[in-house]
Amino acid sequence: MNHGCDEFDPNQLTVEQALERILETVAPVSGRERLHLRQALDRVLLEPVVATFDVPPHRNSAMDGYALRAADLGTDGTRLRVVGRSMAGAPFEGRVGAGEAVRIMTGAVVPEGADTVVMQEQTEREGDEVVIRGNHREGANIRHPGEDMRAGSTVLEAGRQLNAADVGLLASLGIAEVTVYRRPRVAFFSTGDELRGIGEPLGEGDIYDSNRYTLDALLARLPVERLDMGVIPDDLEAVRKAFREAAAVADLVLTTGGVSVGEADYIKTVLEELGQIGFWRIAMKPGKPLAFGNLGQAHFFGLPGNPVSTMATFVLFVRPALQRMMGRSPEAPLRLRARVLNDLRKSPGRKDHQRGILRQEGGELVVETTGLQGSHVLSSMSRANCFIVLPRGSGPVASGEEVEVLPFFGLL
Ligand code: AMP
Ligand code: MG
Repeated sequence: MNHGCDEFDPNQLTVEQALERILETVAPVSGRERLHLRQALDRVLLEPVVATFDVPPHRNSAMDGYALRAADLGTDGTRLRVVGRSMAGAPFEGRVGAGEAVRIMTGAVVPEGADTVVMQEQTEREGDEVVIRGNHREGANIRHPGEDMRAGSTVLEAGRQLNAADVGLLASLGIAEVTVYRRPRVAFFSTGDELRGIGEPLGEGDIYDSNRYTLDALLARLPVERLDMGVIPDDLEAVRKAFREAAAVADLVLTTGGVSVGEADYIKTVLEELGQIGFWRIAMKPGKPLAFGNLGQAHFFGLPGNPVSTMATFVLFVRPALQRMMGRSPEAPLRLRARVLNDLRKSPGRKDHQRGILRQEGGELVVETTGLQGSHVLSSMSRANCFIVLPRGSGPVASGEEVEVLPFFGLL
């Protein structure tokens, strides 16, 4: 047995070192677009958005009730004369004078003279009069201009990836178009003579190409343009042609397979012809081999071929790189602590991303392993909703211990 031969191999990069090198290298794509709000979801702002007026634009009521003057309220049961109504979109034109009130609805302009709104539930209407029950603070239930956003203030920073709330916020400012980064173009293909496309029969030793579909789906979660370049056979000329084509059109080229030790050398040969590529060994499991560099103008990732390794390296390295290329700051995914319900195998030397099922039990987060952890076991990835992240130095973990988990929310 050759236990621990991997342990803290100085020729291996840590996950953190690899990510740092990647993020140092990539930059936002050049090129911008003006988009209508309806097309802007998930896109990244190239310029900050500044409010040109106050939101809300006018003093308005937070409640259905009566607008009145606090000075008029004495003890419980003050009677006021109702002189009109202010509806959302149809303000009361006059002033509220002493002894008067105006019927008002949520969002309606608070008429001049009034300084307080009393909610309907604390009033009794009697013909032209309203009886006010209870005590009321001056200024109650009034929303002030600019309370939400002030004219002149930056409400969304450049680099912001727009979510549904942001789209609504822009609409509330009357902004119909925004300037965003162009979507990075990502070309991807699979390599391997054993790979068949869906619909083709499987010969002896063949498997279906799953990585290309996985990558396509992972990329679909991001505001990028996807260029599926198919399966490339293990053949020098075919690989050369595919890499050339991809590098000519894409900002980022992704391949899977062909980067592990013992692979035929043509991928390496072609990569070295066309660009500068580092063949890294990363102290992680799954996903130890990774090629990273550039093919001409395009950045390049050669992801390992095993399906779980492909996914792990995509989530940990490609996604942050793409976030930077999209124009936003890469966001470290949310990490939580959970109590593990199984014993976990682990030897020191590599950082593990084991597949887990995270759930809440009582007031506590617990996580269970999905079982078989081989990097070829895609079903374990499919069942999982998180990675169980075990640090490089960690040994086996006993059931009941606390571990770090990285939920898949929004990632897969
Ligand atoms: P490689 O990195 O090319 O040595 O591939 C490692 C393992 O991943 C092998 O078992 C391959 O058959 C498998 N593999 C490579 N590419 C794919 C793919 N696109 N879809 C599914 N499995 C793959
Ligand atoms: Mg291969």
